[in-house]
Order: sequence, then C-alpha cells, then structure tokens
Amino acid sequence: MPVVIVGGGPAGAATAIALAKHGIDAIVLETTLLTAFKPGETLPPNAGAIIGQLGLQELLDADEHHACTNNTVIWGKPEPETRYFFSETNGNGWHLDRPFFEQQLKNKAIEKGVSWLQGWKCEGWTPYNNHLEVTVFNRDGDQRIIKAGFLVDASGRAATLARKKGLKRNSLDKLTGYYAELKNAAGKLKGTTFIEAVCEGWWYASPMKNGDAIVTFMTDADLHQTSSAAVPQWLSDQLKQTCFLNQYMDQPDQFFNIHVKPASTSFLEKPSGDRWLAVGDAICTYDPITSHGLTAAMGGAIYAATAIKSYLDGNPEAMAAYSYVQQEAFNNYLSMLQNHYSIEQRWNNSQFWKRRH
Ligand SMILES: Cc1cc2nc3c(=O)[nH]c(=O)nc-3n(C[C@H](O)[C@H](O)[C@H](O)COP(=O)(O)OP(=O)(O)OC[C@H]3O[C@@H](n4cnc5c(N)ncnc54)[C@H](O)[C@@H]3O)c2cc1C
Repeated sequence: MPVVIVGGGPAGAATAIALAKHGIDAIVLETTLLTAFKPGETLPPNAGAIIGQLGLQELLDADEHHACTNNTVIWGKPEPETRYFFSETNGNGWHLDRPFFEQQLKNKAIEKGVSWLQGWKCEGWTPYNNHLEVTVFNRDGDQRIIKAGFLVDASGRAATLARKKGLKRNSLDKLTGYYAELKNAAGKLKGTTFIEAVCEGWWYASPMKNGDAIVTFMTDADLHQTSSAAVPQWLSDQLKQTCFLNQYMDQPDQFFNIHVKPASTSFLEKPSGDRWLAVGDAICTYDPITSHGLTAAMGGAIYAATAIKSYLDGNPEAMAAYSYVQQEAFNNYLSMLQNHYSIEQRWNNSQFWKRRH
C-alpha cells in the first residue's frame, strides 16, 4: 500500500523521492492547481550535500537558478561585512527561481514513479487493522478513498493533518516577512544575499535572474499599525531608513508583488505517531535569518523516508526515534538563533531586539 503525502512543497516532493529510493510507492496530494507564491529562494551552501543525497544535483544546474557567492551583512556593527563562500568546504550557495524549483521537484518525483494529484486535499482518514482509508477530494467535489500504509503531513505551516488530530503548534515569536520585488534593482546585488539589521527588525535582499531584486523586511507585525493598503508606502519609508540597503537599490520606490507572510519560529507539539509523521514546515518553521527552511525540509525528508521504511518493516519505535531527532534538531537551532540575535546589541530599547535578547 502506498504512503499518502499531504502537501507537494519541497518537503512533500523530497519525501516522495526519498521513499522511491527505498522502493516505497507514494501518492502526493497538492491542494493548489498552480504553484502558489512562496517566499524563500536562498539555498545556503550546505544544502548541496542534501540535494546530492536525494540524487537531485542537476536541478541546481538549471539556468533559472544562479550562484550565491557571498553574504553581505550589517549585523552587530555599523559596517558591512562580506563573507565569500568560494574558500569554504561547501562552495557557493544558490538563489533559486522558487516556483521553477518546486516544478523541478514535482517532475523528478513523477519521473521516479510517484503519483501526483494536483488540486486534491485530504478530508480525513479511518484506521483499519494494517492500513488507513484516506478520504481525498478535489475542487470539483470529486471524492476518492485511498488505502494507505502510512500518512505524511507535509502541508507546511498549516500542518493540516496534525491539526485535524488536535495537535497544537507553539509559536515562539511574531516575526512577519513583508516581501516585495523591485524593478531593475538587482545590479549591485549580483551573487549576494544582503542582510541589514535595523531598529525594528532586519532586511533581506537578493537578486533575481531577470534583473529585479527581492527585498523583505522582517519585523514583528504587532509592532506596526499598518493597513494592507498602506503597506507599499510604509515599506518604502522603512527602506529609506536603512543605512546601506537603500544605496544598493537603484529605484527603491517601485515595489511590486508585495506579500505579507508569517515567519515565526514554531514547533508542532508531536512530530509523529501511529502510521503518520510530519515533515518540513509542518513540524518546525525557522526564522528566515537562518536560511534553514528549505534545507531542513529536504534533509528532514531523508530522515522521514528512513523512519517510514523502518516502521513499515515492523519497527514501531522508529516513530519515537524520528520525533526525538526532530526535537533535538529544533533545540540546536534555537540555541544558534539566540546566539545570532545576541550579537546585535545596538538597539537595546527596541521592542523587537528586547524580545530576542
Ligand atoms: C518570508 C520568508 C522567507 C523565507 N526565506 C527562506 C530562504 O531564503 N531560504 C530557505 O531555505 N527558506 C526560507 N523560508 C522558509 C521556506 O520557504 C520553507 O521552510 C519551505 O517552504 C518549507 O517547505 P515545506 O514543503 O515544508 O512547506 P511549503 O513550501 O509551505 O509546502 C506545503 C505545501 O502543502 C500544500 N498544502 C497545504 N495544505 C494542504 C492540504 N490540506 N492538502 C494538500 N496540500 C496542502 C501547500 O499548498 C504547499 O504547496 C522563508 C520563509 C518565509 C516565510
């Protein structure tokens, strides 16, 4: 019986690919018809090893993605510091064309024999002796029942299966990403991921292949009373207050494709159980300062597939081991995050920084 995976983002697709390597069939349900907008396009150098382990190296060679050769950071002191990756063990990172990358992962999964149901979601499931009967439906109201050996929640921050089980997700902060694109602003950012700490948060910018740039202001949403209509002007005013980033931008007023997205650190109270587990953002969401989300989603998929294989081979303790590994990884991430925020001490009266110290 196949494994049913709910969610066709990087975690879901990578889990299906990793299961195929173990000879386990998978069905992916992805609720959207077309790839929806998602922020998150910086893939750090250490992601290369995980992509390699999944056998997906060639995906990153596509022209749509390009090398990220350095991080330029203003954090903890007023001068920019550039860290080049060429001299490091893992080499360069990547700036991804995110929708294209997700399409590549989907195509790879299908190539490996995965059944991909686009526009379908899971309504519920009933356990039987040695399997689950999973009820799925699409936007036209068509319904099917799939017999599954195992269920995976890869539905991202929504964690829809876990929530249906009554599990809670604990959010540790209110970090929110105000994402925008800027016309023809990539020039000075070529190859760079740019980060600048400011009094109420921090900025992130990266170049796009077409010459535009992505800029995101990360702050706590509750610190600002900004209506949706006022966000473009507010964002523009905030950008003008940066010391360096506004100098990197040629036309800082022409924002387009603006999105406001939750970016808090959070953890699902239980990452796995009898015949199910969660993977990727469905388990934990990471502060984007770490650029950890995609790497954790795909690396977690490798662990998830190994745990599922072991469980289906008759080792029920594989689920407890999986939960333990996920919890430990999250604890390590938390101490790294606290260290990182503690480096920035220039605005000790700011609510944003006080909350993180
Ligand atoms: C502002 C911001 C910036 C970020 N920047 C970076 C970055 O630079 N680098 C990085 O590595 N990470 C970044 N991230 C995080 C990264 O985008 C996520 O960690 C990553 O998307 C996690 O992948 P996932 O597959 O777990 O979840 P998702 O990508 O969210 O995929 C979940 C999928 O499940 C589908 N789904 C949901 N519910 C259902 C359902 N009921 N049935 C079927 N399908 C369903 C959704 O449509 C979606 O396609 C950023 C995040 C934010 C918010």
